[in-house]
Amino acid sequence: ATGPNLFEPERRNSVGFDLFDVTELSRIDTARDTDHPTCAEPLLAGPLLGTAPVRAKNPATGDVIGKVVTATAKDVETALATAKPWATPAAKRAETLRQVADLYEQNFGDIFALLAREAGKTLIDAVGELREAVDFLRYYAVQAEKLDHPARGVFTCISPWNFPLAIFTGQIAAALAAGNGVLAKPAETTPMIASFAVRLMHKAGIPAAALQLVPGEGRVVGRALTSDPRISGVAFTGSTATARQIQAAMAANLTPGAPLIAETGGLNAMIVDSTALPEQAVRDIVASAFQSAGQRCSALRCLYVQEDIEPAFRKMLIGAMNELALGDPWALETDIGPVITETARADIDTYIANAQKSGRLLHALATPTRGNFVAPTLIRVNGIADLDREIFGPVLHLATFKASEVDKVIADVNATGYGLTFGLHTRIDTRVQDIADSVHAGNIYVNRNQIGAIVGSQPFGGEGLSGTGPKAGGPNYLPRFTADKVDRVAA
Ligand code: GLU
Repeated sequence: ATGPNLFEPERRNSVGFDLFDVTELSRIDTARDTDHPTCAEPLLAGPLLGTAPVRAKNPATGDVIGKVVTATAKDVETALATAKPWATPAAKRAETLRQVADLYEQNFGDIFALLAREAGKTLIDAVGELREAVDFLRYYAVQAEKLDHPARGVFTCISPWNFPLAIFTGQIAAALAAGNGVLAKPAETTPMIASFAVRLMHKAGIPAAALQLVPGEGRVVGRALTSDPRISGVAFTGSTATARQIQAAMAANLTPGAPLIAETGGLNAMIVDSTALPEQAVRDIVASAFQSAGQRCSALRCLYVQEDIEPAFRKMLIGAMNELALGDPWALETDIGPVITETARADIDTYIANAQKSGRLLHALATPTRGNFVAPTLIRVNGIADLDREIFGPVLHLATFKASEVDKVIADVNATGYGLTFGLHTRIDTRVQDIADSVHAGNIYVNRNQIGAIVGSQPFGGEGLSGTGPKAGGPNYLPRFTADKVDRVAA
């Protein structure tokens, strides 16, 4: 099949793809969906029997892009029975993880295609995601070489669909770097990317018994893998509600003290005061609220703009929203791709319809008719207390505050119980310090956007309802995957 070559030089230059092999990208672009890999082959150490194949769907079009075998109860038992720690010296583990990173980079074309087709990632997001996955691998490889403590055993890693490569890889890389074995359960909606990644990991030399992919439903496979005493710990990224269920299952069945390393939801706010530079703030708000179609736990949900500047600022923000292009994530001109499933779209649509009914809808863009698209939307609220839950889509709430109310805004933000990201646009230096000291948030961003934490320099994770810590991509993460054992005694 042939299709338009999206990578003519002039379009390519706009996002700097010159670094990569363009022929490779256009080959993927014009390939038929059925040419893409599926999970149909066994990936477990033992035989993968599997239930009837489920269909993986492209969220932008609804087209079936592959068939995926999900693990049965018997497969889960086989995985648990055959799982083993990665018993090889730390230097070898580090070298192998670096090889995985190299393989990821070499296979960028297939990875981008899978991220776009299975997860609806725009190219710019796909590039960032591959970069982050590779960073996790290399960062934990360096840390593994310095580790002093032994592995705990076998970890269950349960990862989300919104970073189906980066978070999937980050959890696994940390557990493996520390010498553990891993049973990896990817999100139900993104098993093909996971399958592709695990193939590359096995190809790099990670033994099949040390890393097994166990795709399937959270309530079946996830439950079994978090309630079995053969598991020594769980790494989880997903909703706060699921984290609670996992915690209960672990408490009832696992060794006391088996760690749950959970990164969960957020209700993230940003303050823009009257000293902020409006053009810069608008650009950062658009990225924070709408990039990745708002499907990041770090995303901005409630924007507080100082009352005096709000009318003019809102106009500028709406102007910027009107410039956003929704559409095919594989097209370079697209800013916003689809949300992950029809169910997600319907849920967000209902939320927006309710806001419209109650007269709070400030602005929405036109939505494409085909695919799971949600138009970037702006909704009026009195404050963050009006948000009763995290809406995982391109929906931004706007509130105003008076100069005298900054402390109250921070108190309201803290009262949500979440504490993931927080943004601040101001040119008052003392305000930066005051807010940084008082707001409960894992990642505080000043005069920039509040998404896209960088492995190594901006470890990512929250407090309260947003997660247990330690932060991913930071120095304290890897030690949680080890046993705190003293095995050397000074003479
Ligand atoms: N680490 C991502 C960021 O900083 C968010 C991860 C998530 O959504 O789980 O934007």
